[in-house]
Amino acid sequence: MDLKRRDFLKVLGVTAAGSLLPGCAGETKKLIPYVIPDEEIIPGVADWYASVCRECDAGCGILVRVMEGRAKKVEGNPAHPVNRGKLCAKGQASLQGLYNPDRIQEPLQREGARGEGRFRPISWEDGISRWVSTLEKYPGGAVMISRPVPGTLSRLFSTFMKEISGRLLFYDPSGEGTLQAANRRSFGVDRFPEYDIANATYLLSFGTPFLSDWLSPVHYGLAYGEMRQGRPAVRGRFVQIEPRLSMTAASADRWVPLRPGTEGLLALGIGQVILKEGRVRLAQGDRSRFEKLYGTVSLDQIAAKTEVPREEIIRLAREFSEAAAPLAIGGGTASSQTNGTNTLMAVNALNLLVGNLGESGGIRFIEPLQGFPAAAATPVSDQALLNLKDSFKNKKRSLLMLYQSNPLYTLPPSTHFGEVFDQAAFTVSFSSFMDESTAMADLILPDHFFLEAWGDFLSDGGTPAAGLGQPVVIPRNNTRPVGDLFLSAAKRIGGNIEKQLPWTDFRTMLEDQWKTFLAREVPGQPFEIAWIERLQQGGWWKPEQRLISVSRRPLPESIESAQFEGDEKQFPFYLTLFESMGLQRGEGANRPWLQELPDPATTVVWGSWVEINPRTARQYGIQEREIVRVISPYGEVEAPVIFFPGNRPDLISMPLGQGHTAYGRYAKGRGVNPVILLAPLVDRDSGTLAMGATRVRIERTGRRGKPVLVDQTGEGTRRSPEGRRRSET
Ligand code: SF4
Repeated sequence: MDLKRRDFLKVLGVTAAGSLLPGCAGETKKLIPYVIPDEEIIPGVADWYASVCRECDAGCGILVRVMEGRAKKVEGNPAHPVNRGKLCAKGQASLQGLYNPDRIQEPLQREGARGEGRFRPISWEDGISRWVSTLEKYPGGAVMISRPVPGTLSRLFSTFMKEISGRLLFYDPSGEGTLQAANRRSFGVDRFPEYDIANATYLLSFGTPFLSDWLSPVHYGLAYGEMRQGRPAVRGRFVQIEPRLSMTAASADRWVPLRPGTEGLLALGIGQVILKEGRVRLAQGDRSRFEKLYGTVSLDQIAAKTEVPREEIIRLAREFSEAAAPLAIGGGTASSQTNGTNTLMAVNALNLLVGNLGESGGIRFIEPLQGFPAAAATPVSDQALLNLKDSFKNKKRSLLMLYQSNPLYTLPPSTHFGEVFDQAAFTVSFSSFMDESTAMADLILPDHFFLEAWGDFLSDGGTPAAGLGQPVVIPRNNTRPVGDLFLSAAKRIGGNIEKQLPWTDFRTMLEDQWKTFLAREVPGQPFEIAWIERLQQGGWWKPEQRLISVSRRPLPESIESAQFEGDEKQFPFYLTLFESMGLQRGEGANRPWLQELPDPATTVVWGSWVEINPRTARQYGIQEREIVRVISPYGEVEAPVIFFPGNRPDLISMPLGQGHTAYGRYAKGRGVNPVILLAPLVDRDSGTLAMGATRVRIERTGRRGKPVLVDQTGEGTRRSPEGRRRSET
């Protein structure tokens, strides 16, 4: 008998394994790779694969260390321009997404009533057939809600949905639609610029959480380091303006705790002083436009409404306009009101006033990657999502498809978005996890985790780059790449959609897009070589960035007042909900490392809490760690109190990300989701949910909570509390 050494070892391995696990014949196929490793694998030697992080929408480049076929560690890719070798905690914790025990392992079909949570496994053939037959049953009736996937997947989704006369909505719950709308109006450009923080000498930030969760956190974290310490003899100054001392505010030279919703007015006051004192760099003829804007309200009125003293406004104006490279940015709390777009336009106006557009240390629009065939994925507003209720109600739409989106968790119940699920004749989810929205699906066709799949990601803004992702490990479960599913459905439907999407699998489609692109970028180099180079490097980007000029658009006519829901007497507090560093809007809650990450201010882990100024707590007789009820006109939640002098006394703040009713063992039933308190108010111009527009009251429960603080030594007590000195605002 001619038995090769490798075949012999396989037989030996299976025999040995079989003798250890009698009766497990069905497992033989699974055991082989571990008993007889791939010939490429050298025990004890690590392989590194470049890819793109998909744990948020910044698209950082990563290098994954793989040993014996298992991904061990994720690092930042030093060559990638977005993150230059650095990585945030969420990126590090992506391995806990890959190896998460609660991943959906195979196609599932609903059993019992919708939302009951009972599913049974089905075959892929059965699953795809059911999905395709539903698509055919409701021609033109499909809606897909997807996270933004700028790249080849976006092109695939767009083509597919267009060909079936469906509707594709890219949904980003982070609230950055307000900034996009403001920039569109101020600069006439529908993309984010590079905020050149690294080269600024004075940074005036209106609520922007750029050190935790704004646009591209690693990128701007690096830029901040350069602004403060990267230039000999120049240390940029930084002022943060917001009602709560966030992690970003805690790093500032000065924190200005103004009244919520008045950020735009304060920007107006600062601009007014700058214009009056003559430190402006305006183009000829522009002055009258600014005079009109800044003449709408007096400085004393602004001081009274914002609760920022007049002297402080003058000081900010002088510091800002006298700086060599001043930069104003806005986001976070400043954009979370009903006047968010208006407010951010007033912040943009400050930059126009000091003439930093296109300058080093200012706002710079960089030329995007030219000729890349993959599509962008511009998110729609929350309001566009809410409008779906009517489409489903009047039966214009019947089939709902979800890709890595969980609107039932991220949108407040007061919006009644659940009606879409109630009215949908059929819901398909392509999620890897049983989140709240997926739990309501009729059919689940689970995607590979991003570290198991091919993909690319088009970064925009200040660092145009096309990141390239490849499978770094063999898929662990009986899942399939979502791109393959859509291509296979196109084939089954046939006709024009098959002609438009002729590829057999997503990898082939991806390679084809890159072939066209690389032929243009590196003419003369054979594709096979260029492709391998790009795979090893992790994508394509240009060493040099070219600026594009933008036209100056109208200034805001005036600053509208923010609207709040809830009578001031009944609900005396403003409410601020902030993203916790790791959990984001709840996406990170099923990663234990991120649950374990202490909140920088309170050190709380694995739960929710209510931040109250100690003075307010004293007024209400509330003890620290006592459970309080936070009540809005729309709902109530209970959580333990942490005294936080960094809150204005009229402010209650709570972290987002907890309170899941599904989403696996690490997330489910932990803490509360404060989104249920929110009114269904949106920013008037962008339609983005106004997260800061709801007023609340608090009630004592008399019960004592046990928040987990990392520096606790016993039952909810901090280390040496008697040795501590505290100041109160
Ligand atoms: S910022 Fe963090 S989570 Fe987002 S892409 Fe970069 S490493 Fe990943």
